[in-house]
Amino acid sequence: MKRIVVVGAGAAGIIAAWKAARAGVNVTLLEKKERIGFKILISGGGKCNITHDGDIPKLLGCFRRNEADFLRPSFHAFTNADIRHLIESKGVELTVREDGRVFPLSSSAKGVTAALESLLADAGVELRTLAAVSEIHRSEGEGWMMSVSPPKSVDPSGNSSLRIHSDAVILCTGGLSYPGTGSTGDGWKWLAEMGHAIVKPRAALAPIFLDVVPPNGWAGIALRNSVLKARQSSKEIAKSRGDMLFTHRGVSGPAVLDISRVVAEMRQFGPIELCADLAPDSGYEKLKELTMGWIRQHPKRSLSYYVVNYAPARVAEDILGKSDIAGKYGAQVTREQRNRLIEVIKGYRIGSVQHVPMEKGEVTAGGVDLGEVNPRTMESRLIPGLYLCGEILDIAGPVGGYNLQAAFSTGYVAGLSAAIDD
Ligand SMILES: Cc1cc2nc3c(=O)[nH]c(=O)nc-3n(C[C@H](O)[C@H](O)[C@H](O)COP(=O)(O)OP(=O)(O)OC[C@H]3O[C@@H](n4cnc5c(N)ncnc54)[C@H](O)[C@@H]3O)c2cc1C
Repeated sequence: MKRIVVVGAGAAGIIAAWKAARAGVNVTLLEKKERIGFKILISGGGKCNITHDGDIPKLLGCFRRNEADFLRPSFHAFTNADIRHLIESKGVELTVREDGRVFPLSSSAKGVTAALESLLADAGVELRTLAAVSEIHRSEGEGWMMSVSPPKSVDPSGNSSLRIHSDAVILCTGGLSYPGTGSTGDGWKWLAEMGHAIVKPRAALAPIFLDVVPPNGWAGIALRNSVLKARQSSKEIAKSRGDMLFTHRGVSGPAVLDISRVVAEMRQFGPIELCADLAPDSGYEKLKELTMGWIRQHPKRSLSYYVVNYAPARVAEDILGKSDIAGKYGAQVTREQRNRLIEVIKGYRIGSVQHVPMEKGEVTAGGVDLGEVNPRTMESRLIPGLYLCGEILDIAGPVGGYNLQAAFSTGYVAGLSAAIDD
C-alpha cells in the first residue's frame, strides 16, 4: 500500500492526514509537540474561530488577489460548510456569530481538537507525537526518508533518532509565529535546501511596537471605532477602522492587527508613523461645527468634558495638552486653538513604528512561493511527491476564521492528491 508521511499536526496536517487515510493509503502523521493542534487550541482566544460563514467568493475576497487565485480550487474542494459538517459529525455544536465568524457553541477549542483527533483515529492514521523531523531526503527510486527523534527538550542527547520511509511527503510545519506552539519554520529550511523559493517571512495580525512606548498607566486603554492610519513619507500606506488598544510596548487590537502585515512589509523602506482619526464619522467642517456648537452651549465648562466624547479620559487630557488648551474653558479658547484641537482629534499621533514582532503575530505572512506549488493538487512544481499546505505557504488572511479555513482546505487537497497521484 502507498505510504504517506505528513509532517506537522496543525490544522493543515490533521486534515491532510485524515483525507489521505480515508482515500485508502497508509498514513503516518508526525508531530513534534506532545499533542496535536496546539495553534487550534489557542486560536480565537481559546474559543477557536474555525471558519467564516458565507459563500466562497466572499471568503476569497478577504485575501490578497494572488492568494485568492491560489486558494480558489481548494476552497471549492473543501468548503467552510464541509469543515463545519466534519466537526459537527463528532458532536461538536457550532454557532455563527452576527459578524459571520464560526465558533464552537461551547466557546472552547478543546472540543474541536478532540473531534479532529477522533477523526484521525477513525481513519486509521498512525499518529506519532513528540516526533520531531530533523531531516528529509528524497532519493531516486527509493522515495522519501525522514530522520525523526523526540524534541531536544525531551531527549537532549538526540540518540533515539529513527528513520521513516515513504512514497510521498506532505509538509505542513506552519510558519514562525508563536514558536511555543511548535511552528519554528523548520519546513522552510528543508525546502530552501531543496531549491524552493521562500518569500521572506513577516509578521501578520500582530501587535505593533512603538519607538516611544505609551505613557505609564496607558496599557489597556482602548480607542474605540477610530480609523487607524499608517503613513510613510507622508503617504498613507494602510488604514483600518476598529478598536485599538495601548500596550506596554505599543499598540494592539483589531485595527492594529489589520494593518500590521503592510506595516511589517513596508518598514524596510523607511520610518512609519501611526495616527488615529478619533472622529471618523465627521469631516473637518462637521467637527468644527460640532465643536463650536458645544462651546456656545458650554462657555464656562472645561473642554475636557467635550473631548471625552472622542477619547478615554487620559488620552483626552493628552489631546488638550497637544492643542494647548489644557484646563481652559470653552470661552477662553481662540480660533487657532479650536482648529488645532480639531486637527489633533482627526489625526491623533500614536507614534513611530519600532517593530512588528513576528513571534506575536497570529499568522506568518511569507513562506513558500505560490508560483512553485500547483493549487489544484498542492504538489510542489519542483519536486514530485512533495505536497505543501497550510501556513507554510505564502498566504495570510485577515482575522475571522480565514486562516484556519485556508489550512483546512489546502490540507484536504494535499491529502487527497498525495493519496491518489501515481
Ligand atoms: C494566537 C493565535 C490565534 C489565532 N486565531 C485564529 C482564529 O481564531 N481563526 C483562524 O482562522 N486562525 C487563527 N489563527 C491562525 C491559525 O491558527 C493558523 O493559521 C493555522 O493554525 C495554521 O495551521 P497549519 O497547520 O498550517 O500550521 P500550524 O498550526 O503552525 O501547525 C504546524 C505544526 O507542525 C509541527 N511541526 C513543526 N516543525 C515540525 C517538525 N520538524 N517535526 C514535526 N512536527 C513539526 C508544529 O509543532 C505544529 O503542530 C491564530 C493563530 C494564533 C497564533
